[in-house]
Amino acid sequence: MTPHEVLSRVFGHAEFRGPQEAIITDVIAGRDCLAIMPTGAGKSLCYQVPALIRPGTALVISPLIALMEDQVSALTAQGVRAATLNSQSADGSQVWRDFADGQLDLLYVSPERALTDGFSQLVQRTEIALIAIDEAHCVSQWGHDFRPEYRRLRPFCDALPGVPRIALTATADRDTRIDIAHQLGIADDRIVLSGFDRPNIRYEVVGRDNIKRQLLAFLANHAGQAGIIYAPTRAATEKICDWLVEAGIRARPYHAGLEPGVRSRHQADFVASEDMVMVATIAFGMGINKPDVRFVAHAGLPKSIEAYYQETGRAGRDGDPAVAHLIWGGEDVARLRAFIAAGDGNEAHKANEARRMNALIAFLDAAGCRRRELLRYFGETAQSACGNCDNCLSPPDLIDATEAARKLLSAVYRTGQRFGVQHLLEVLAGKSSEKVVKFGHDRSSVFGIGKDWPADQWKNLARQLEAIDALERDPEHGGLVLGPAARPILKGDVPIALKQLAPRRPTRSTDSAAELAPGDRPLFEALRGLRRQLAADAGVPPYIVFSDATLRAMAARRPQTVAEMARIPGVGAVKLDSFGPAFLAAIRESAAA
Ligand code: ADP
Ligand code: ZN
Repeated sequence: MTPHEVLSRVFGHAEFRGPQEAIITDVIAGRDCLAIMPTGAGKSLCYQVPALIRPGTALVISPLIALMEDQVSALTAQGVRAATLNSQSADGSQVWRDFADGQLDLLYVSPERALTDGFSQLVQRTEIALIAIDEAHCVSQWGHDFRPEYRRLRPFCDALPGVPRIALTATADRDTRIDIAHQLGIADDRIVLSGFDRPNIRYEVVGRDNIKRQLLAFLANHAGQAGIIYAPTRAATEKICDWLVEAGIRARPYHAGLEPGVRSRHQADFVASEDMVMVATIAFGMGINKPDVRFVAHAGLPKSIEAYYQETGRAGRDGDPAVAHLIWGGEDVARLRAFIAAGDGNEAHKANEARRMNALIAFLDAAGCRRRELLRYFGETAQSACGNCDNCLSPPDLIDATEAARKLLSAVYRTGQRFGVQHLLEVLAGKSSEKVVKFGHDRSSVFGIGKDWPADQWKNLARQLEAIDALERDPEHGGLVLGPAARPILKGDVPIALKQLAPRRPTRSTDSAAELAPGDRPLFEALRGLRRQLAADAGVPPYIVFSDATLRAMAARRPQTVAEMARIPGVGAVKLDSFGPAFLAAIRESAAA
């Protein structure tokens, strides 16, 4: 079969995406490759298609057991002979025999297992189609997840001359890329990059005023969808999860403080669900293979733009619309600064972390297209505004806040640099609260000079001044103090533009049925119900049966025959056999009703 025939017959897709075809052609021809592709770009097919075309078994080295098992069940559902050998696999001896007999198209194996003597010897006697090294950034000390055993993969590959090796990762960083290629013995000119853009993800950033209310309002717009909320601490994770459960939302917590058994149960529940919300620390997400995550919300700041890109990248891997929503406040900046200052490492390292954090804050404060900012950070230039981020969809009005900034900084100074935003707002608004009177601030020259602005606009300004170092927090009592950038602002040398808080227009929905004609919705829901039932019977997550996009195409085109069904994207030969009749019957039934 040709690569195209494998793509359509086995995987049910019509076209290759991005660099897939070029990579696949090279690997089939026996050339090595390091593929750098963002999450959701379709890395797996880059080795799965050659695995089915080259003679022998493809070895896939992967550090993540859950991911391997997921891939094996997805491949098995498509009629591909795949199995996994890892520390947790049950019937290892059967897999071992099948592999030795050449009965497997793909064998997923953990690095520890691959590097045992027994396995290395077996591999020498078996025909190997290719070696795929997934999560290849693990080989680099500069990557975010270094695994020493990955360093021994190069001799392992070198012992199999003539077998092409293909390494895959989503890591963005240029130095890390080159290091990976060197560590795995892949030539520099065999690095293939695809763009970093994730066009189906809509980026949204908002200031925090009441996190509980804001999260619940956000979730109300995403009812019935699966998503992740990242929280900065374990305690915050538990608290937010409690709020959601109280509000009747199916939610689970996930953090390193939970028992491993509980963690993996929550993870499995989430992967199998269509509508669950996972509230997690960043301990969650690496290697989670759930293509239908519809949103990733941040209830606090990620560490850097790379971290933000990585975490938000877990949304919308199936290519359907998804949202990355971030809620932040000035306190987050203070916490992150303190965290960096207290961390170990030399001054150069800390300066580097601080630089990365400032880049993140500039991104969050940007008034222009967010996608363009993100891509620019990764060294790509986007021609035009994307039309799918908050700033594009409802451009913020910029107002001249130079005078207001001077008022706020003066209020901080006049009240002795020891009070929090709340108190300062009362002084500016001219409220004679008990505390204001007690400190005599009702008699100060700044009392009531800020009546013309609403409180949340002042808060917004305070956050922005904190982001540019004009305000800082006293590490002991948390009061606002003037920072190094305050002086030129007070002197009127630096203009300050503030994003006006306009009520955001509601943006395009990410409801997976939104693109359907109203008349097709009932059928779509019926097909989803059928999918849920078939998935439960087979003990697999629903997306293993068919993706939402496939169900949408069925609901819109209503295939009547097996031949028509075979032309629906995502319906390969084996799925056509195993699930086609049930879905055809459901479509006919709906026509009769
Ligand atoms: P990655 O490992 O790069 O994050 P995956 O290999 O998991 O991405 O693929 C992401 C999703 O894209 C999967 O649901 C997969 O079926 C789908 N996909 C990959 N290649 C294609 C293609 N050529 N056409 C349509 N869908 C594709
Ligand atoms: Zn944009």
